[in-house]
Amino acid sequence: MGGQRGKVKAKARKKKRLEASKRSAGYRKRFLNKILKWDEPILSEQCSIVEKGEDISNLIRDMGRILSFSENGVGLAASQIGVVKRVVAAKINKEVRFFINPEIKIHSGNTIKSMEACLSYPGIEVVVDRNDTITVDYEDEARIHHIKEFKDFSAIILQHEIDHTNGICGVGAEWKRLNTPPPVEESTEQEEYDDPVSVESDSSKE
Ligand SMILES: [Zn+2]
Repeated sequence: MGGQRGKVKAKARKKKRLEASKRSAGYRKRFLNKILKWDEPILSEQCSIVEKGEDISNLIRDMGRILSFSENGVGLAASQIGVVKRVVAAKINKEVRFFINPEIKIHSGNTIKSMEACLSYPGIEVVVDRNDTITVDYEDEARIHHIKEFKDFSAIILQHEIDHTNGICGVGAEWKRLNTPPPVEESTEQEEYDDPVSVESDSSKE
């Protein structure tokens, strides 16, 4: 009495949950795959100013999703997803914040050694000299202008990302110096592409 139906329903719910989680894994993957890597020329380009009134809402949305989907990522520049604009997203105190046309106005001059990695050069780490405190002139995603001081890890993230807006990346420079070819995608990632369920639910989402 209802037990059987309950079981069937529970099974259906389980199946639905499983499919939803696979779909969301595929969804996340699709966003993370937007990150340009290795020898992609856009990564070395000087990015242009975001004009007044320019609609960058889709860019902001995509950058926010990518950064929240990325487990290790703490910052992302628009050029890393192929948009050559001066826009940066950074996890400041675990919260994703946006910096439009960011410019470092004051460097403390007190440098610290920072071990850095980059989503565009996975697996590469390099020690970079950074200022421990910087003052940044920027607009937030609502295009409100700010001049704010950032310290320590927040200052390091912003210096790394603002470098990207100028086509500079210390991690990328290290990869070029090492002169190793871009690695082949890992087999675990390949398996996920081959999964017929996630491919099917991916295409239904398009
Ligand atoms: Zn980077």
